[in-house]
Amino acid sequence: AHAALGDAYEAQARSAPERLDAFWMPFTANRQFKQHSRLLASARDMHYTTVDGRQVLDGVAGLWCCNAGHGRTRIIEAVSRQIATLDFAPTFQMGHPLPFVLAERLAAIAPDPLKHVFFTNSGSESVDTALKIALAYHRARGEGQRTRLIGREKGYHGVGFGGMSVGGMVNNRKFFGPMLPGVDHLRHTLDISRNAFSRGLPKHGAELADDLERLVQLHDASTIAAVIVEPVSGSAGVVLPPEGYLKRLREICDKHGILLIFDEVITGYGRVGNAFAAQRFGVTPDMITTAKGLTNGSVPMGAVFVSNAIHDAFMQGPEGVIDLFHGYTYSGHPLACAAALATLDTYAEEKLFDKALDIGAFWEESIHALRDLPHVIDIRNFGLIGAIELAPREGKPGSRAFDVFTKCFHDKDLLIRTTGDVVALSPPLILDKSHIGQIFGRLAEAIRETA
Ligand code: PLP
Repeated sequence: AHAALGDAYEAQARSAPERLDAFWMPFTANRQFKQHSRLLASARDMHYTTVDGRQVLDGVAGLWCCNAGHGRTRIIEAVSRQIATLDFAPTFQMGHPLPFVLAERLAAIAPDPLKHVFFTNSGSESVDTALKIALAYHRARGEGQRTRLIGREKGYHGVGFGGMSVGGMVNNRKFFGPMLPGVDHLRHTLDISRNAFSRGLPKHGAELADDLERLVQLHDASTIAAVIVEPVSGSAGVVLPPEGYLKRLREICDKHGILLIFDEVITGYGRVGNAFAAQRFGVTPDMITTAKGLTNGSVPMGAVFVSNAIHDAFMQGPEGVIDLFHGYTYSGHPLACAAALATLDTYAEEKLFDKALDIGAFWEESIHALRDLPHVIDIRNFGLIGAIELAPREGKPGSRAFDVFTKCFHDKDLLIRTTGDVVALSPPLILDKSHIGQIFGRLAEAIRETA
């Protein structure tokens, strides 16, 4: 009877539902989508299969998260066994073995001295967790007046009130009132006039980090708790750090006792050729926020990496008192831990982080071959991330990039992302050169045909 029920659930997941009305979709033009839906039914390796049976090549690892590709047997088995063994266990003043094992595994791949891990369920929760830890850290050290948080224009740090406040994407902010008080923003680092079509990191703009000195002058360092930036920002259309920028930011933070947080929800777990962008750039922040690739996207989970110094500052009070009044029912959830452990094994066994580095040069060549297509005004790449920026379209709603996205999905069997005027790419790290050829071949056709 249960097997029959299982068949029924599976059949439901593979066919288009009769009604799409009740699900209010996130970050979506709901009415438009429900007239022309795009529904995925199954996935394996580099491809999705749609409910109408088409094979769609995945150019964005789902949503920047399935770094090992789809349907990985090891993860499937780990999660299936775990749900049959221990479906849930609390981690408030109780525990089960897996989050301890997983945290040790994660600490081993994190840069020194970020050797403590706090578990969440998403990138947004990781960001809010890190911001709260920063505030409480200063208070624990007798510097409770350090309450100001600094983000950056064009930053995306999820949708919690903390992440939205330090974020710098106008549409994600303007509908929701005044947000957290005491937040300020650095200038963004996107400068097409100086850096268009640069390969890898832009040459110009390291001095933009000095904008932090401006904010220190304005507010005084003694009021500033932390700065949060994405080493490479994805959601605002792939904004890269100019050469030397992050190092300079680190120096200014050190000079003024300000914590530096890297939001690596996108760059974590191999996307730029190391476990973390911090390692690739040789700049160590005080905390790193992650999610997405941690479980290969299979079960929601986030992790915040915290330096020994920050962690230890919380461990000074009486041993019987809770050190951080923060956490989630599902922090260290057994299924998520099982998925993450199997994911880390997959990454290690297949050396996927190295692979991202090795194939990066071919990726760079291939994406820059699109520069002469109609309306292309910039191309950016780093690791296995890419962006093609198209000229804004005047006098008509919607962007050219969105047209390219729908063309790719419906006519070219290719999944890409768009944000504003930018086509963004972040394929699974398992891809080979022929996949790269297919991605850019199909994308080039779509850009030409929509022009
Ligand atoms: N931070 C960054 C840099 C992200 O790219 C994202 C999501 O794309 C988030 C935070 C939010 O993550 P989530 O959607 O899991 O809450």
